[in-house]
Amino acid sequence: MSSETSFDVAIVGGGHNGLSAACYLAQSGQKVVVIEALDKVGGMCSSGYLIPEAPQHLVHPCALDLMSLRVHPMMPEELQLARHGFKQVEMTPGYVYLHPDGNSLVFWRDVAKTAAEIRRFSERDATEFIELMKVINAFIDMAIPMMRVDPAQKNLGAKFEALKALLRNRHLKPEIMGMVGSPAYQVVMERFGHPVTQSALCCLLGAAGPITNEATGIYFALLGFLLRTGVGRVLGGMQTLSNAMAARLTELGGSILLNAPVAEIVARDGKATGVRLQDGRLIAARAVVASIHPKTAFDLVTPGALDRRAMTRVALAPANAHGGAPLKVDVALRGQVGVKRHQARRSDVDLRKCVLLIGTVEAVLENFRACARGQVPTLPYMWNTLPSAVDPSQAPPGQDIAYLYPVAMPVRPDEGWDTIRARVGQQVIDQASEYMDGLKELEIARRVEASPDLAKRLNVHNGCVVHIDTGATRSGLMRPAFGLGGDTLPVAGLFLGGAGIHPGGGINGLPGRIAAGRVRRFLK
Ligand SMILES: Cc1cc2nc3c(=O)[nH]c(=O)nc-3n(C[C@H](O)[C@H](O)[C@H](O)COP(=O)(O)OP(=O)(O)OC[C@H]3O[C@@H](n4cnc5c(N)ncnc54)[C@H](O)[C@@H]3O)c2cc1C
Repeated sequence: MSSETSFDVAIVGGGHNGLSAACYLAQSGQKVVVIEALDKVGGMCSSGYLIPEAPQHLVHPCALDLMSLRVHPMMPEELQLARHGFKQVEMTPGYVYLHPDGNSLVFWRDVAKTAAEIRRFSERDATEFIELMKVINAFIDMAIPMMRVDPAQKNLGAKFEALKALLRNRHLKPEIMGMVGSPAYQVVMERFGHPVTQSALCCLLGAAGPITNEATGIYFALLGFLLRTGVGRVLGGMQTLSNAMAARLTELGGSILLNAPVAEIVARDGKATGVRLQDGRLIAARAVVASIHPKTAFDLVTPGALDRRAMTRVALAPANAHGGAPLKVDVALRGQVGVKRHQARRSDVDLRKCVLLIGTVEAVLENFRACARGQVPTLPYMWNTLPSAVDPSQAPPGQDIAYLYPVAMPVRPDEGWDTIRARVGQQVIDQASEYMDGLKELEIARRVEASPDLAKRLNVHNGCVVHIDTGATRSGLMRPAFGLGGDTLPVAGLFLGGAGIHPGGGINGLPGRIAAGRVRRFLK
């Protein structure tokens, strides 16, 4: 622990974005300190032995899959994380949809192979899929270069790349605009006829949000990324990634303060001057990066330093605005779970090693509608997986840890989570058991975390996993809100640097990387 009290840059929040900002700044010679409320770094990029009855079963309370980091793979390389213990494995395949009737549909990292899966159900859907993938690929070819850069800069190189993609695919422009501007659900239903294809796509895209809302067609980027760069896992668990970043930071001379909740981001005369910790310590800094939720960050700034307009914009920026958020149910098991009913119908993939997308079109729609009413959904819609099947080090030999992720549960259920947490946790395990054998019989113990629990544990507004909801109107300079997504905030020397800024949530470290660039330019 550092005893110094004066730094070039103080970074509030030791999630992976705070660590990313710190590493990039330390690499360019700044004297930095990361200040984290909890007793370890990582935030949502973490894992640990969190079930007391099962001390050797590794739990991922939040992120598990590397998708975003594979789309934007710069950070591990630039920060030399492999040298500090970071290693990932690709899942082949990553995501498989399981239909209630025993059929399954694999999302291969290949358009033709995935189309062949769809062809087993409908020739016409397979042809439509190939056509749709051309539109999606053209869209992500334009989007990816722009996602990697600071939207407040000129970015001539990235714009040139995006423009080249646009020109190459100009005949697809109306289709791209139509897809991105429409509800994702509409795009699925207008193109695909078979219930397995429709359900597989709705279950995949629903993980990004309520697919019947306007302009959620942007969620098709998820499908494009999945087929282009696939899914990976961190060997040894997500904490290994955050620890590797912390090790790199320490190597570069950066400091990390743990168990140090920030009580105030101190602003005087329109300028950030440092932070005050809950225990009263003052840390002076020439710049402050808040790698926490933007609303949480603004609430910490010395009262009066930010005007009503800025405070209102972040307070009302959507964070689980549709009323739904994932529930996390982690189950430690004394044996190994099977996926027998679906596995019996195919021998080309080991379903134990995949992420299993469970649900139907009806379930996805019902889940989001129920959440909006503050009710617990009744139909199963979840993403489940067995991390120990991919990385056996995550459970004792011959045993499993199950990661169950019902995508949409009410943020504020009528009855309150304290009343329903145990009952809903059981409902999730019961529903998952229809697809995963042994889940109930082999249970040692479980951990159930709802969005208010997550909100409290990580101090994240509304327990939103991406801090600010993903959407076309909350990207680039509009993220987190109009006027607040650029390289300056109303308080000079204060920067946002977490998932609430461009390009958004997920494990990729880009918001931290962008914030570091902004700080460097400010300090010059
Ligand atoms: C259940 C779940 C599943 C997910 N699954 C995936 C996935 O599979 N793949 C993927 O790519 N992404 C996934 N995500 C999203 C991803 O994990 C997050 O978007 C990302 O990790 C956010 O990182 P961050 O550093 O911006 O913020 P956070 O991880 O929220 O970190 C913020 C940090 O700030 C600290 N903090 C808050 N307030 C203070 C304060 N006052 N003083 C000091 N410290 C403070 C917190 O303790 C925390 O450590 C998932 C998220 C959740 C919750």
